[in-house]
Amino acid sequence: MDFAARKPTMMKLLQEMVETESPTYDKEAVDRMGAIVIREAEKLGAKIEVFPQKENGDNIVARWGKGDDGILLIGHLDTVFPLGTLEMQPFYEKYGRVFGPGTLDMKSGLVIMLTAVAALKEQGEMPDRPITMLFNTDEEMGSYHSRELIEKEAKKHALALVFEPCEYLEGSLHTWRKGTGKFTLKVQGKAAHSGGAHKKGLNAIEELSHQILKIQQLTDYEKGTTINIGSMHGGRAINIVPAYAEAEGDIRLTNLKEYVRVQNVICSLEPVKKDALIIVRCILNRPPMPFNDLMEKTFNKAQKIADAEGIEIKAGGSGSASDANFVAYLGIPVLDGLGTVGEGFHTEDEYFLSDSFVSRAELAATLLRDW
Ligand SMILES: [Zn+2]
Repeated sequence: MDFAARKPTMMKLLQEMVETESPTYDKEAVDRMGAIVIREAEKLGAKIEVFPQKENGDNIVARWGKGDDGILLIGHLDTVFPLGTLEMQPFYEKYGRVFGPGTLDMKSGLVIMLTAVAALKEQGEMPDRPITMLFNTDEEMGSYHSRELIEKEAKKHALALVFEPCEYLEGSLHTWRKGTGKFTLKVQGKAAHSGGAHKKGLNAIEELSHQILKIQQLTDYEKGTTINIGSMHGGRAINIVPAYAEAEGDIRLTNLKEYVRVQNVICSLEPVKKDALIIVRCILNRPPMPFNDLMEKTFNKAQKIADAEGIEIKAGGSGSASDANFVAYLGIPVLDGLGTVGEGFHTEDEYFLSDSFVSRAELAATLLRDW
């Protein structure tokens, strides 16, 4: 399939999407992005379902065909970039790279999804099995409002393809991902004047510091478990013994046993200082997606199909999680990292390699046609 000829059309749609900024927390902005994918999917004859959301943008499902054994394509409409980022970081292509907020993560992936179906329809090569696209709107904040929909749709399909970007320039698909969790630690001490009543105070920052050191020790690189206290604050002024302090942290892990180990320690922390009070909240957001037998089978099948079309694909993984984690956890075949190849995602240098725009669209269409 020749997708090179489609690149100008793909770039035009991508530019419109990137210039329609869509930070997760701005419902109206994300709904403007939603309107674009609805328009494009409708042009291709999809049946659209909108799942209204109060705080986030509305989740959208586009369907072609009916029945079991379908393929689900997953992409998120939101980005991490606040409105106005475009002024500093405009959309442009230079030296074979395409820049702009959300180009890599993952508006180019959305264009690939739509282009693959457009090409198959034009060539009369749409598969008999149903094709469904799910566009969610809160991926960058953990998909708390779309997880249920993702899981419900995944259960109705034989395969899920996730068009998150490929973070490695060699272009490997993501066949494993770490799981993610997070925790907050709140410490209540007792305020007092730092000069006149120092002894009567109970320093919450001091107590929190003891706890942070214990938690940081839970990192185990060999097992792939990392703990990162990412923020902490407490106290009001230097002449007051602080009555309150809190910290927040991120947990990454490759298996659920590790989550249980970490959670057990965090949830049973005992105060070091007498009378200090510790309140802990620890949750698992996305379960780990291991490279297990099912993943190996799924990848091997994809590789065979791609090979037959002269497309080379490799298996790789990532320390970050995506919505693919939810699908994998259900025991449903899933492949991720099918979006463009690039670097710097979530930063001002975000870009993708423009060649990968074309080659990934070809891969997507091939998988849909020949699975
Ligand atoms: Zn993403």
